[in-house]
Amino acid sequence: MTGMIEEKAGAFGASGDRPCKRCPPADAADGERILRMAERIKAGMDWVGEEAAGRRMAACLACGDRLPDGTCRHCGCYVAIRILLPGKTCPHPGGARWL
Ligand code: SF4
Repeated sequence: MTGMIEEKAGAFGASGDRPCKRCPPADAADGERILRMAERIKAGMDWVGEEAAGRRMAACLACGDRLPDGTCRHCGCYVAIRILLPGKTCPHPGGARWL
């Protein structure tokens, strides 16, 4: 299945400032590895579904606080993973950007 996650594949590049160290850094875990992690989540865990994930991803792709390595400046998460998780919100200090 293709969708917003695959569209995100080109957004991974050099590593940047990463507050959260739980996931491997992008220079060790390239975009393909993050995409595989996203597919495992979608196959085996509760996730928000394509529509909500697509809305979230659109907000992240338009957000100036998404870093070149695909992480969020405020939480350090890979946004391609965070957008999938039902318990997560956008941590933008000016107010959540996800609808
Ligand atoms: S602040 Fe919100 S919209 Fe911006 S990159 Fe982080 S999670 Fe995405």
